[in-house]
Amino acid sequence: MSARAYIAIGSNLAEPLKQVIAACDEIANLPKSTLIQKSSLYVSKPLGYEDQPDFVNAVVLVKTELSPHELLSELQSLELLHERVRSFANAPRTLDLDIILFEDLEINDPKLVIPHPRMHERAFVIFPLQEINANISIPHIGDIAKIAKGLDPESAKRITL
Ligand code: AMP
Repeated sequence: MSARAYIAIGSNLAEPLKQVIAACDEIANLPKSTLIQKSSLYVSKPLGYEDQPDFVNAVVLVKTELSPHELLSELQSLELLHERVRSFANAPRTLDLDIILFEDLEINDPKLVIPHPRMHERAFVIFPLQEINANISIPHIGDIAKIAKGLDPESAKRITL
């Protein structure tokens, strides 16, 4: 049985635009998975540690027969492929991949929390997600249109290539 999963992509190192575009292709090629939709690319200011380059972000929707933990493990392999070095929290990163929603599952274990706990605070997740599903509702949080209205439109801007 296949499930619909939304994945948030972010990069702010080593030609971030290229990293994000490559990650979309790599996600499309994941085993037992099909890429259904991808958002535009967005540029956002770093959160937390601010002395670092802007991020490029996108959200994609996949249909997958992988379990949530199998999908997480595949995405972590892609992060490694992009030579992401984990240094400190909110540090610059070549590629960051987060599962933001997996059907309407709620998971809360040491390795995986779904829905992603901070997604509703992040314009760089909410704006691209809204672009590909304007009617989605986030469990316990609410409708995406309402969430998006509370976020600063300047904090994540669509890139026109
Ligand atoms: P980060 O450094 O922000 O990419 O966090 C990576 C860690 O977050 C990994 O060890 C994952 O096991 C954990 N994690 C928890 N929930 C999620 C999720 N929904 N998507 C991706 N990673 C997650």
